Amino acid sequence: MKILETTCIRCPVGCHLRVEKNGENISVEGNRCPRGAEYGKQEMTAPMRTITTILKRKNGGTLAVRTSRAIPKEKYFAVLDAIHSCVEPKNPKFGDILIENVCDTEANIIITEVN
Ligand code: SF4
Repeated sequence: MKILETTCIRCPVGCHLRVEKNGENISVEGNRCPRGAEYGKQEMTAPMRTITTILKRKNGGTLAVRTSRAIPKEKYFAVLDAIHSCVEPKNPKFGDILIENVCDTEANIIITEVN
């Protein structure tokens, strides 16, 4: 049996979840709604993360970026490396795609703020 204690991040309530995996059976306790059960099961089997980060620009400004969708947790640091290794675009704008299909995750890296 595998046990995971985690906090549901699907809403601000932040329910404390206890997830148990016994063979193919996964049970979730502590969730106040079905979204928490779904989150707990995903955390146990294939955890996903959304990345947001800030890049420094050559002119002293910054670019805020995020993934267009959640990515597998095991690719988190590879994606961060890819973001921080990319070449700064010439005229970055809100909504531009900085990297397509980053690290084969099917997620794009999107610019969310230009300063
Ligand atoms: S289980 Fe439901 S109520 Fe609790 S944090 Fe998750 S989404 Fe919110």
